[in-house]
Amino acid sequence: MALICEHCDQMIVGNAYRVTSEEDGIILLDMIVCSICAMEAKQLQLHTEVVDAAPKIPASTSAIN
Ligand SMILES: [Zn+2]
Repeated sequence: MALICEHCDQMIVGNAYRVTSEEDGIILLDMIVCSICAMEAKQLQLHTEVVDAAPKIPASTSAIN
């Protein structure tokens, strides 16, 4: 399954990143982006984390079923 960057609409090659922004417990932003957009997000001080494309559930994040 190919992932498409939700920010620049390019096919994500390599690592995909999840960018989230939360304020007062409300999710303002939650999107899957490519590494380039993730770098931009980091510069904007948004929270980014690597998404493993393989269908497994990381032990540390159980927010998604
Ligand atoms: Zn992108």
